Amino acid sequence: MGAMQSGCMNQAAAYDYDVLIIGAGSAGLAALRAVRRHTQRFALIDAGPGGTTCARVGCMPSKLLLEAAHAFHRRHQFEAFGLRGAAQLHADIPAVLQRVRAERDRFVAGVLQTTADLGTRAITGRARILDPHTVEIDGQRRLSTRSLIIATGSTPHVPDEWQVLGPRVLTTDTLFEQTDLPRRMAVLGLGPLGTEMAQALAHLGLEVTAFHTNHHLAGLADPKVNAALEQSLSGSMHLQLGRMPQLKAFDARAITVGAGDFSTQVDAVLAATGRRPSVCGLGLENLGVALDDRGLPDVDPHTLQLEQLSVFWAGDINPDRALLHEAADEGEIAGSNAVADHPRAYARRTPLAITFTEPSVASIGLPYDPHWTDEVAIGGVDFANQGRARTGLRNQGALRLYAKANGGELLGAQLCAPAGEHLAHLIAWAIARRSTVAELLDMPFYHPVIEEGLRTALRDLQAHVHEPRDTPGPHYCRQNSLDCLD
Ligand SMILES: Cc1cc2nc3c(=O)[nH]c(=O)nc-3n(C[C@H](O)[C@H](O)[C@H](O)COP(=O)(O)OP(=O)(O)OC[C@H]3O[C@@H](n4cnc5c(N)ncnc54)[C@H](O)[C@@H]3O)c2cc1C
Repeated sequence: MGAMQSGCMNQAAAYDYDVLIIGAGSAGLAALRAVRRHTQRFALIDAGPGGTTCARVGCMPSKLLLEAAHAFHRRHQFEAFGLRGAAQLHADIPAVLQRVRAERDRFVAGVLQTTADLGTRAITGRARILDPHTVEIDGQRRLSTRSLIIATGSTPHVPDEWQVLGPRVLTTDTLFEQTDLPRRMAVLGLGPLGTEMAQALAHLGLEVTAFHTNHHLAGLADPKVNAALEQSLSGSMHLQLGRMPQLKAFDARAITVGAGDFSTQVDAVLAATGRRPSVCGLGLENLGVALDDRGLPDVDPHTLQLEQLSVFWAGDINPDRALLHEAADEGEIAGSNAVADHPRAYARRTPLAITFTEPSVASIGLPYDPHWTDEVAIGGVDFANQGRARTGLRNQGALRLYAKANGGELLGAQLCAPAGEHLAHLIAWAIARRSTVAELLDMPFYHPVIEEGLRTALRDLQAHVHEPRDTPGPHYCRQNSLDCLD
């Protein structure tokens, strides 16, 4: 039972609200759901346009664009399948973008619908924190609150020197608003978002040159998986890795992008150089807590509380877990703790991050560390000869699994693999359940499926685990075992 229905009523009544939530993104909306279970004295403040980053400019439009791009790119394999006429296909980019926006608008409308009943408890305006219990809206109206949830998300970061080039420098906030795309594009930054968008643009048939300051693509640390991704990306775009790109206007239409002794002209640039927490002008300095050099406070990841204040923090404003399902979890935790007498510590989920390229990329659980000693066993598979992958001409990529060498508990994995998003879920669930390699090899595997590739990797891993085990395959019924009832 939350405080709003028990001990804190009198104290809460001294304030205009029990809870104010700043930010109506995925984190803020999850917080709202948790808060509403306990009190109706809340307000949700958003600067607009609303509809969440995920639905408006993030997860959903990016996947819409990728789906069209991957579908069009498949034409390169038609000849090998014996299918003729692929050369006649062309991508109608304005139509592709129009569908992206139409579907995106549907998703956004669905999100907006969830707060349609809030009435005056939905406040449009920019919030500034004056102290842990007071928020000012657009420099005019002041609201007091017992608890505060800060869920203001993040925004794309574009270095100042690139901004002078104007609208030819796009971000994921502006990309999906384009009615057409030019023939030559540079993508600057190959983290997960940049990698997805670089491949989307390249698979749509644009000439893409992609730059990244180091050699780790899509956040991968495992050199074998990273090499598989690099090989796959380089099939459709030109890669420039390991150097900082420089931009300058070539003429009124073109931009010169250089890195070291390489330079090229493009018509537009997608800056995917990271996102920064939206804290500018938020007044965090008025909370009276220490801020680091990024202007961020220290937040307990299990309670999401700021020091001993009744102030909670959720979503992409925390750059360490800038993913939708983490934002939703954090909103739920922050919302539950904002109405509780005493904040509770919540366990966090097994880390899971997916990049929706083809083959798709994922990091699950413990990331690869080159300094591991023989305490960690590693196993893997190369998909070049994986049966089901070959049937679909998708036989590209690698999967690597990490386990405790002693006992074989699965700890983590990185992959760049066909159907990788699905493999990643199986692996994440196994890690969350603390399964061992032996236990996973006891699971059924159908034939022929991509998951047989996972089994190959598990078998390889098992060979490096110090754990005696029978040969995989059917084994005798244990007495009264459920598997043997029929
Ligand atoms: C291109 C792209 C692709 C992505 N793809 C995926 C994916 O495939 N899978 C995945 O898990 N994640 C993905 N993400 C990340 C995911 O979108 C985010 O993790 C999630 O949307 C974060 O939600 P949030 O609530 O923290 O922030 P937001 O949804 O950004 O909400 C923050 C809200 O706060 C408001 N706000 C900010 N400052 C103030 C203020 N001072 N006063 C009032 N309101 C304010 C903003 O207007 C905004 O509405 C992607 C992101 C991008 C950009």
